[in-house]
Amino acid sequence: VKEYPSGYPIPGRTTAYDTSAKINTDSVSLNGGILAKLLLISVDPYLRGRLAGYTPSKFALEEPLAGYGIVKVIRSENDKFHPGDILYGNGRIRHEEYSIITKEEAEHVVAFKPVDGIPLSVYIGAAGMPGLTAFTGLKEYGNVKKGETIFVSTAAGAVGSMVVQIAKKEGLKVIGSAGSEEKVKFLKELGVDVAFNYKTTDTREVLQKEGPIDIYWDNVGGDTLDAVLENTNEHARVIMCGAISGYNGEPAIVKNLMYTIYKQTKLYGHLVGPLLSKYQEAFDKDVIPKLADGTYKHREDKVYGLDKASQALLDVLKGANVGKSVVVVSED
Ligand code: NDP
Repeated sequence: VKEYPSGYPIPGRTTAYDTSAKINTDSVSLNGGILAKLLLISVDPYLRGRLAGYTPSKFALEEPLAGYGIVKVIRSENDKFHPGDILYGNGRIRHEEYSIITKEEAEHVVAFKPVDGIPLSVYIGAAGMPGLTAFTGLKEYGNVKKGETIFVSTAAGAVGSMVVQIAKKEGLKVIGSAGSEEKVKFLKELGVDVAFNYKTTDTREVLQKEGPIDIYWDNVGGDTLDAVLENTNEHARVIMCGAISGYNGEPAIVKNLMYTIYKQTKLYGHLVGPLLSKYQEAFDKDVIPKLADGTYKHREDKVYGLDKASQALLDVLKGANVGKSVVVVSED
């Protein structure tokens, strides 16, 4: 991080910092840690929060960004990990070609082998944190009943595309919005009942016609959330997963909270991390096989090279990504 952005991050200024050039991979001392080579970076919207300080751990200046990712062990002084192991990193993988993962940081990585049929990169997408976000949120807060109607914003993205597919499997009527015709087409391929481009179609009109809404999966906040609050059934559940419409400028302000009183709407702040211990096993049993056999589809937006990471983050924040945004830093 070179400077904290006030609007959209500027690639190369606010978000490009690889310190690993300082590491001599043959001789660097590990002090009980692991020398790891970065393979894949997950580009996630919350990274913008860590640049701004509205999530708990603000990135330090003159340090690389860090997040979810996949690395390969090159050398190890940690008994749990061995050269050649592939590690999934939970939020602490630095955006640098080589990293030393300290003993403390190693508490946040796990060694794993991909299941047949699931490419490695999908473990930072549908088979990893974004897929888990969808699964845990619906299980914990959805109180899903067959035949109900769910609306999902940012439905074609990494989280949204899993929410819509799990919701279809649960027998819900699924309405999904996305920001381009290409994304709307993808939503139709996923089996979404009513897919629309919120930039060219009025969300309120769709919800009035296709609602009322029993469950709203909120990825955007702001006026979209207001539109939903006007169009819920009584006792609707709102799963507040993200508020991306406010990440880069004015906060995503909501004006219609009074509707929650009359409709007895339940608003749930959802964070995936604290729910993992409760749901990881069920996710591995229910979702992973459906990803492996193609029942659940996923789409990736891949770029190649660490130098593309900051532009990829800007693309995610502007909606230019189609599918899970992944940076391939090294293929072996
Ligand atoms: P996506 O793959 O969905 O990419 C982000 C998408 O957000 C863009 O493609 C774009 O889609 C949409 N978007 C960007 N700017 C705006 C805007 N101003 N208004 C409306 N939509 C916008 O990302 P993820 O699936 O990784 O994340 C989706 C949401 O889930 C985010 O809000 C993220 O912060 C949240 N999240 C929350 C977690 C939790 O534990 N609570 C964990 C993981 C993610 P479009 O073209 O359709 O507008």
